[in-house]
Amino acid sequence: MDQEGKRIAGAELLYDPRTNKGTGFTEQERDALQLRGLLPPRVFTLEQQTARIMNNFRRQTSDLDKYIFLGALQDRNETLFYRILLDHIEEMVPIIYTPTVGEACKQFADIFRRSRGLYVSAKDAGRVEELLRNWPERDVAVIVVTDGERILGLGDLGTNGMGIPIGKLALYTVCAGIPPERCLPVMLDVGTNNEELLRDPLYLGLAQKRISGSQYDSLVDEFIQATQSVFPKALIQFEDFANRNAIRLLEKYRDRICCFNDDIQGTAAVALAGVYSATRIQRTKLVDQTFLFLGAGSAATGIADLLVTAMCAEGLPEQQARRRCWLVDSTGLVVKGRDRLAPHKVAYAHDHEFLGDLLSAVRSLKPTALIGVSGQPKTFTRDVLEAMAAINDTPIVFALSNPTSKAECTAEEAYRWTNGQAVFAGGSPFPPVTIDGRTFVPGQGNNVYIFPGVGLGIMASGASRVTDQVFLSAARALADQVSDEHLAEGRLYPPLNSIRDVSIAVATSVMKVADRSGRLCKLPQRELEERLKALAYVPSY
Ligand code: NAD
Repeated sequence: MDQEGKRIAGAELLYDPRTNKGTGFTEQERDALQLRGLLPPRVFTLEQQTARIMNNFRRQTSDLDKYIFLGALQDRNETLFYRILLDHIEEMVPIIYTPTVGEACKQFADIFRRSRGLYVSAKDAGRVEELLRNWPERDVAVIVVTDGERILGLGDLGTNGMGIPIGKLALYTVCAGIPPERCLPVMLDVGTNNEELLRDPLYLGLAQKRISGSQYDSLVDEFIQATQSVFPKALIQFEDFANRNAIRLLEKYRDRICCFNDDIQGTAAVALAGVYSATRIQRTKLVDQTFLFLGAGSAATGIADLLVTAMCAEGLPEQQARRRCWLVDSTGLVVKGRDRLAPHKVAYAHDHEFLGDLLSAVRSLKPTALIGVSGQPKTFTRDVLEAMAAINDTPIVFALSNPTSKAECTAEEAYRWTNGQAVFAGGSPFPPVTIDGRTFVPGQGNNVYIFPGVGLGIMASGASRVTDQVFLSAARALADQVSDEHLAEGRLYPPLNSIRDVSIAVATSVMKVADRSGRLCKLPQRELEERLKALAYVPSY
């Protein structure tokens, strides 16, 4: 049936990825739905179709080819696409998301086949609501929106950044079971300042410089207002905005609508969960740590803010908690009295002499944890890592910059240069490393552990705001999913193949804190989990 209740049949069924089962249509369906003759005669089960697709998938020679292959499948047969993703999650996440999605965004115009999601451009000012009403689904639960200005660590990719909302929403479906028809990717095309794209005759976006100031704000505001009337139940996730807009827009809208910023708050929760796991390995407490960040942008201050919230929850006064977090930006150590500090850094500008480089900051501050969110590759040098190992028995080293080419160090470098002492997590996946016969399994501080569960919890609780407490409880719930066996291998996060269970655990914790009535808190854990499982989309025929 289509949305008007009209029965769809024949070729129309085959060409709609939501209804298409391809060779999976049964004998009865082929007769009843006028499909006889439109398909080869043999009927295949979903499992058999999956096997065929996996053979072809593994024959693709590059990760980008695999990405294109999966995109084509998503355009053809949505159920099969999600079945494959769910059954081979560890293999698929690096293809549909980081690191491959970075390459896919760079080549977005070249690999473009069929439009997916909604494009709202600066030319549409004044009629954004009309565009939203063109979207074929009404019951949208999650919107992921970007303006393409800071795509991963790759910078301004303009409209090519649409690969990110598309990938993130596929993850909402795979990891937390949010039905695909309830997910809406949005590109706010406000132009691009990327000269290469502006010169490219095949670029798909507006070939103009970015709009800014009140013109930009008014377009974003019109979009937000339109979502409230067209999709009033939707959770809005801001994604990959440049930090000046990311922080500002979050501040502007967080108390007005149901929204969050994944680069700030999702990253913070996943990093905090990794720190909780690391303290179990170290047998220390959160309040025993001193954090030094390389990078002082939205990810760094987002993580620092949540660490402060978490330390305060453990009894440390806020001022002391803030003094446990130090930032190094492109100029050097962020200290009190430094000229023209951006407002988001001020809370972390402490009394200290200015130091111009990371190594001097490590030697002077003696951090227990080094967190890389600078987008600058190879900045955790051998000297820096050796200094961390000299100061700490088990230094925490998180090199979170994405994609892999931007990582502050590799897992191998972190383990080797600290003589296997480091407790490591990367932003992208790294293979296990063996040093002197001991094998380390690097963690991946992937936001996918957090945002799908947060989305599901918000959707299920009907909450209208996403508070800091949501991310604190999500981080705790994620950390609780890490077993002692995982920790013994150096893993700070649970294996990705348990992601649906992880998302359910995150979502139940979110439901409890997000529900203002306090009603859900009183329900037994098992009942909450059952409710969430009943909501989850399962790709099957
Ligand atoms: P941002 O642009 O807001 O911040 C980047 C910061 O790095 C700025 O403060 C800048 O001053 C600083 N910087 C630039 N060059 C530097 C240098 N040479 N030395 C020290 N600092 C330098 O970006 P963001 O949103 O904070 O993201 C930063 C990085 O973190 C990106 O690569 C992104 O992919 C990564 N990230 C990873 C995850 C994750 O793995 N879960 C999540 C979010 C962001």
